[in-house]
Amino acid sequence: MTRPPGPPTALWRPYTQMKLAAPPPKVQATEGVRLILDDGTSLVDGISSWWTACHGYNHPHIRAAVADQLARMPHVMFGGLTHEPAERLARRLATLLPGDLDHVFFTDSGSVAVEVAMKMAVQYWLNRGVKGRHKFVSFRDGYHGDTLGAMSVTDPDGGMHRHFAGYLPRQFVAELPTDLDRIAGLESLLARHRDEIAGVIVEPLVQGAGGMRFHDGDTLRRIANAAARHGHLLIADEIMTGFGRTGRMFASEEADIVPDIMCLSKALTGGTIALAATVARAHVFDAFWSDEPSAALMHGPTFMANPLACAAANASLDLFEREPWLSQVQAIAAALRRGLEPARDLPGVVDVRVQGAIGVVQLTALKDAGWLRRRFIELGVWARPFGDILYVAPPFVIEPRDLDLLVRAMVTVARDWS
Ligand code: PLP
Repeated sequence: MTRPPGPPTALWRPYTQMKLAAPPPKVQATEGVRLILDDGTSLVDGISSWWTACHGYNHPHIRAAVADQLARMPHVMFGGLTHEPAERLARRLATLLPGDLDHVFFTDSGSVAVEVAMKMAVQYWLNRGVKGRHKFVSFRDGYHGDTLGAMSVTDPDGGMHRHFAGYLPRQFVAELPTDLDRIAGLESLLARHRDEIAGVIVEPLVQGAGGMRFHDGDTLRRIANAAARHGHLLIADEIMTGFGRTGRMFASEEADIVPDIMCLSKALTGGTIALAATVARAHVFDAFWSDEPSAALMHGPTFMANPLACAAANASLDLFEREPWLSQVQAIAAALRRGLEPARDLPGVVDVRVQGAIGVVQLTALKDAGWLRRRFIELGVWARPFGDILYVAPPFVIEPRDLDLLVRAMVTVARDWS
């Protein structure tokens, strides 16, 4: 298995068999909703750089805020210090989030936001004098990230666990209670293992990397009610859904629920710089409020609350306040519903579904993702199909002409594959 002399492979890429994969397109610049490749090709980004660039790329307002912060203070450690951009961002998030989700802990990636949520939940019980509650309930087809704790609550059948099963904490996996008949299974799990469970973690409305599956507000409400009835903490992983993607600022609002802990990242900075937040309700925070130093939350990434990232996030929130994001999302949803419909009748398609500004065409079988990606590029689109899923989640500011290009590309690729 020694590697023959050949092109340099200094750069090790994500989720990639380096031996087999073709070199990826090289991006030279980003503009609006487009990626400009080094050969001059311009692609409409159908997936907003993994769901982050909700306002499009290089937005002048975010760029100016980051440039201003760069001139003042690009970084300072957060241990024992604080700064205005982080304080302002925390106050704004607390105001924007539903209920008393008022206490914001910053980190630098979605996976780590989930790790912090899990640590918060485990320590919440310990700080309240309850021992033994250190397991989590997650849902079939769920995905919560690539770090160890986050992987342990990701569906064990989803491929992430293949090499690490023996290394990961064992958790409970429940079926989503998508109808009343299914709630009994979750209820019985929550009751039977009450004294072991630290929390229940769910992706509200959209299970993303586990297959772009959608559920409704009733399903989410059933989960929240069941968790509350059995005295469990509910963790909403809104890393993908947060900041408008489903047509609600936060998907939890669709069910009118206030989770005990919420994880945010991706669109938090409008796709500019890595930042994540784990936000706790007052009663969770109160469990850490103590004269006892060891009751403190023991977490503190070196780059937490990076001032550039906080400035970008504050500027992104300005845009949410002044731009018509909701009508943009609704217009995208309507165009996706209309435009993807013809794919439903193709022999190679099993389902077409839309949730907010997310459109999915599900194929009848797995297809070579490299082939699908290349076909999208030929059609002027950047997309990242996986498994049997073609999907788009474009920037909210996409113009009708570019949206039309995306939608037509989805149908064409599905037709070519059929
Ligand atoms: N949780 C959800 C729902 C996600 O979609 C993702 C990333 O796709 C993560 C967690 C992990 O976030 P990150 O890739 O920033 O670590």
